[in-house]
Amino acid sequence: MEIKKGIAASPGIAICRAMVIDSKNYRIPRRSIMASQRADEVKRVRSAFAAAILELDELEAAKQIEEGKIRDIFAVHSRFLRDKSFRKRITDFIEKELVTAEYAVSVILREIASHFESIDDEYISERVADIYDIERRLLTHLLGKVAEEVEHLREEVVIVAYDLAPTQTASFNKTFVKGFATEKGGRTSHTAIIARSLGIPAVVALGDLMSSVTTQSMVIIDGKRGVVIVDPDEETLEDYQTYARQFLEFEHELDALRDLPSVTKDDVPITLLGNVEFPDEAEYVLRKGGQGIGLYRTEFLYLYGGSEPTEEDHYQAYSEVARIMDGKPIVIRTMDLGADKLPHTTRHPHEANPVLGLRSIRYCLQNLPLFKTQLRAILRASVVGDVRMMLPLITTMQEMRQAKMILRDVMEDLDEYAVPYNAQMPVGIMIETPSSALMAGLLATESDFFSIGTNDLIQYTLAVDRANEHVSSLFSAAEPAILLLLRSVIHDAHKSGIGLSVCGEVASDPEFIMLLLGMGVRVLSMAAPMIPEVKKIIRSVTLEECNQLARKVATMDSQRQIKNILRDAASRILPGTY
Ligand code: PEP
Ligand code: MG
Repeated sequence: MEIKKGIAASPGIAICRAMVIDSKNYRIPRRSIMASQRADEVKRVRSAFAAAILELDELEAAKQIEEGKIRDIFAVHSRFLRDKSFRKRITDFIEKELVTAEYAVSVILREIASHFESIDDEYISERVADIYDIERRLLTHLLGKVAEEVEHLREEVVIVAYDLAPTQTASFNKTFVKGFATEKGGRTSHTAIIARSLGIPAVVALGDLMSSVTTQSMVIIDGKRGVVIVDPDEETLEDYQTYARQFLEFEHELDALRDLPSVTKDDVPITLLGNVEFPDEAEYVLRKGGQGIGLYRTEFLYLYGGSEPTEEDHYQAYSEVARIMDGKPIVIRTMDLGADKLPHTTRHPHEANPVLGLRSIRYCLQNLPLFKTQLRAILRASVVGDVRMMLPLITTMQEMRQAKMILRDVMEDLDEYAVPYNAQMPVGIMIETPSSALMAGLLATESDFFSIGTNDLIQYTLAVDRANEHVSSLFSAAEPAILLLLRSVIHDAHKSGIGLSVCGEVASDPEFIMLLLGMGVRVLSMAAPMIPEVKKIIRSVTLEECNQLARKVATMDSQRQIKNILRDAASRILPGTY
């Protein structure tokens, strides 16, 4: 039995056989196989070679005569792959070391590459790039097969991976994928956010995990405490089976709150909204008692499908959500592409610092046809329900004005063709950069509402990458600097009389609910599965208690002290979860 501690990313307990998947973008960790699996792994290598050779032959044949040089490169790669001694080196390695096919491919090709690198001959050392290219091609075939296996699962598993892209996570079939654990990641990485939205228990940032898990391992994922147990002993297994039952009972109890109002004990209404990535999650928000959608992350439309979404694709998605919500508010956020959400279809430039790069509204303002397509669809959907539009990652007044100017252009286009839309559709912005938080008073003069995105606000204010496990302990909403910014934005929004909500992960963190209420927040938006627990907290406190807590916190200067007092307050209300 091995116990690993990581970051609790999505609550719940999963106890299942492991399915280990590698991601082609990352290193291939050493993973052992049983002696009985040797033949299967060798077979996998053979089919990967065959598929790669076929692919190269096709590419070679498709190239024109004038592209002779490129054709030659393909021919060289193909010859290399046909070399029997090269393939034998890989299969021998598998048989002797008892490791996976991908690990053997990676090790042998890297050995060859470093040998080439050490040779003092320009022609040979230039071949290193070719070796890496061949490695990538083989791994794509090997790993692509695993991806297919995940798609066609017929038994329950927990996924164990070095890292997962948000899109990979979103494509998991919930019937069979009962949880996941990754070596990398942070609580507010989009992979973790998706896990919460789907209600899949998850633990991230576990460090070295893959070397202790094989596909034969039984794994427990405790997404509440951030613990993963590999091959548990009898007693631990029984304890966790009991805990899993209790957890489910607690969830059922919370679900009973669905039709009760979201008000504090002294009758102050607090609006609870859902965060969604896909139209079908809208139903889920309603089932959990959500009163609308406070954040629709539309970039997921771009992250799926083989091509860029058309105006009709956008419109269908937005109008479907509007119909499901039946008059309840829906905040559609224009696409927030970039950083860890990169589309497969459009060519996104490679950036050294993608989080500080061409992401979100900046990307839209530099890709106007793509932006305008989305704006047209949002405007058209604005007559189907209470649709509002929100601009992400605003950092300057000019950016907001530019985006609104483009919106006006699109409105004029629609006028020309007499396409109906709501000319009064509210347009708000996300406050998720220190710059917009500092400028909130000014931005409020031209904005209909604010939604505070604490995930990015914390990342940018504390200079802590939200998806980097090495600095995850520094990522905290309880830092006095963050609370100072929150207080100031809330104050500016109230003073200007515009709407204000919080839609970052803090809005669903049981430890922060009382504090947010005490600081003046009345609208919270979160992943659907978190709504009942937050409602329970709200219904168990008075606003005066929250105000008192916020006043006390305001006098403190240490994150740890603040965290402790918030935890104490929350555990008094929800002893069951602590
Ligand atoms: C945020 O940054 O807090 C937010 C809600 O946006 P996202 O998590 O999609 O970046
Ligand atoms: Mg954000």
